[in-house]
Amino acid sequence: MFGLKNQCTLNLDDEYRPLEAYQGAISRWCPGCGDSGILAAVQRLCRDEQLPPEKTVFVSGIGCASRFPHYMKTYGFHGLHGRAIATAQGIKMRRPDLHVFVNTGDGDCCSIGTAHWIHAIRQNMDLTVMLHDNSIYGLTKMQVSPTTPTGYKTNTTPRGAYLKPLNPLATTLGVVNASFVAQVGEWIPELLYDIISKAFHHKGFSFVRILQRCPHFMPDFFEQMVSNPDSVLLLTHENGMQFSDTIGKIYKNHLEHDPLDINRARELAELEERVPMGIFYRNEAIPRYEEIRRPRRATTPEQIKMTLEKTFDKFGITPVTSEVVRSGNGQPAGTGKP
Ligand code: SF4
Ligand code: MG
Repeated sequence: MFGLKNQCTLNLDDEYRPLEAYQGAISRWCPGCGDSGILAAVQRLCRDEQLPPEKTVFVSGIGCASRFPHYMKTYGFHGLHGRAIATAQGIKMRRPDLHVFVNTGDGDCCSIGTAHWIHAIRQNMDLTVMLHDNSIYGLTKMQVSPTTPTGYKTNTTPRGAYLKPLNPLATTLGVVNASFVAQVGEWIPELLYDIISKAFHHKGFSFVRILQRCPHFMPDFFEQMVSNPDSVLLLTHENGMQFSDTIGKIYKNHLEHDPLDINRARELAELEERVPMGIFYRNEAIPRYEEIRRPRRATTPEQIKMTLEKTFDKFGITPVTSEVVRSGNGQPAGTGKP
């Protein structure tokens, strides 16, 4: 009798969340925009991992990619230009129990947000950072970005971009405490999903550069990579990525690469002949900042009040008496001191 009763008990915690449970507003991205593929992969990941929406946060800055949190039915923060990573770090520091994702563009992360990006790598907090790299400022209508290829004509460089583009992979790999660095093109959905999933499961700062098509402003740039599988080099290893037979047959250039080999990872990040995709570097042994410096938590109303009063006391100002002002010598009047 008891056994039957237990079988009939409805456990609300076990409720299955379908894909729709993570789908937010209808996106306003252009048709064919690579951001849509990234959104689909991330929604699938949330569904497959059954992430509680109330314990999941997407943080962004400003740009086309930064509209991401609006399209997720989770918590989100569409913040200031370049400040996505810093905001995400604040959230994670205070609430290490949350799953914190960052969606940032090449302008947002690699230009105005560079200082936050570099120091966040060093601090190695447990965040999943997706760099939507379309090599252009899309939202502000085709201005040159730090990753625009040399010679590419933009609205701010009508004769072509003057400088060599910044390499987000080499930059990340050059910073002390880098712990997870990967690259993928969003037009390969299986690979995209697998890499974001590996990044999510990594304990530390996971940086995934996602080459993201912008058909509106950069159609020629991505066409070459998308239509020619020979331009891609798949990085494979038993401790890194393994690919399905289908992917392996389409993308025939494979390279065995141990993700613990940082020197080789740095060389691969600079490769020009082909576009390497997979995990460049992964090291789980690097300490995380939120573990080294876990803040003391005030939970009861009394503790919160005490913490607030202590903080206010730090900035307390002793009022200056009228005698001090009248004496004019910095000493209270009538003390007899010179
Ligand atoms: Fe996407 Fe480019 Fe359109 Fe922005 S401008 S939504 S990046 S296609
Ligand atoms: Mg961009």
